[in-house]
Amino acid sequence: MKQTLKKTNPGSAVKLNLCEADIQSLRRQLIRWFSAAKRNLPWRQHRDPYAIWLSEVMLQQTQVKTVIPYYNKFLTRFPDIRSLARADIAEVLTLWAGLGYYRRAHQLHAAARDILNHHGGVMPSEFDRLLSLPGFGPYTAGAVASIAFGQRVPAVDGNVLRVMTRLLADGRDIHQPAVQRDLRRTAETWVPPRRTGDFNQALMELGATICTPRNPICTRCPLGSICRARRKGDPAQFPRRTPTVDRRTLYLAAIAVTDGSGKLFMAQRRSPGLWAGLWELPSVTTPGPDAPHVREVIKLAAEHHGIHLTAVRRVTDIVHILTHRHITVWIYQGRAAGSGRKRGRPAPPPTPTDYAATCWTAHPDALPLSVLAEKQLAALRAAEADIPAAGCAGRGQE
Ligand code: SF4
Repeated sequence: MKQTLKKTNPGSAVKLNLCEADIQSLRRQLIRWFSAAKRNLPWRQHRDPYAIWLSEVMLQQTQVKTVIPYYNKFLTRFPDIRSLARADIAEVLTLWAGLGYYRRAHQLHAAARDILNHHGGVMPSEFDRLLSLPGFGPYTAGAVASIAFGQRVPAVDGNVLRVMTRLLADGRDIHQPAVQRDLRRTAETWVPPRRTGDFNQALMELGATICTPRNPICTRCPLGSICRARRKGDPAQFPRRTPTVDRRTLYLAAIAVTDGSGKLFMAQRRSPGLWAGLWELPSVTTPGPDAPHVREVIKLAAEHHGIHLTAVRRVTDIVHILTHRHITVWIYQGRAAGSGRKRGRPAPPPTPTDYAATCWTAHPDALPLSVLAEKQLAALRAAEADIPAAGCAGRGQE
């Protein structure tokens, strides 16, 4: 099999590619296989561009089985772009809570508003116009344009990059932007003139179910006859592995502060940033790796949050791991001091600079919480700390 040098547009030569006969075979075999083997997934039941877009956003960094209930729930509450655009971001985040990578929810909401305000509420069908919307990169724009509108553009995600490096026996580092750009140009030459959405989904499906990272099942692969990595005998060596992620270690002291009536003090993260718009126990970063003394926590709470604490004790600790962070959280409990109000509740402290808003609530679980905050509340309850019980319905901001 010979490698060919193809041009897709002036000045952009593709470094590695299949020969023309193999590209034809790739299209034919892949679409035939997909028609017979594709999984029955809710977003494949119709071609509503909004529903396809929603599924593509939710599936980023998240497994299919995790996404399905969130997708169904989200679509029931926000059945179209208009309903999403008109919703409060707090409600969007509540529905998203637990799915992670909350920036996706913010961008989904922002893009829905953009479509409503600038496109009459109708999703654009062209790749370039999709690309101009918040949260749309080449992958999402390519997926929506091809699956929903039949545009002849590729949709190259991590699964597709892996399959491509194996088909081509391409030993380059796919974490390099230049390599990704080149593979995307190669993929442009693979997309057939018809059934573009099926072709793109088939490549992704192959990567998700057959050409998996560690154990590709080459004996069941429709592309075995043209795969160069298989011919070399060790397809799992592609793509080239990069060193393990270097996670930054963070140490936080989180404080569960209750008032005279048992309400809990919660804080909402500023946007943009980590956990933007989500609620949590007020926290402060500490130097670590040793848990701060309660005197230090009292001082930090006053300095950072304007809260004056009494009866402070350390209740429990948790560890939370994100892609680039390893977070240790020491959790304390205390009572707000200085009951100056007639009803016996302390005056709310001023909104601290680290947070967009604060509130006292008897229903903390009704707020849009980060996964870390959910873990904190669960750990406090497991330790029988004095905080509001779980399972309260309705919004808890008070
Ligand atoms: S033959 Fe094996 S390595 Fe090649 S694309 Fe198929 S599953 Fe992947």
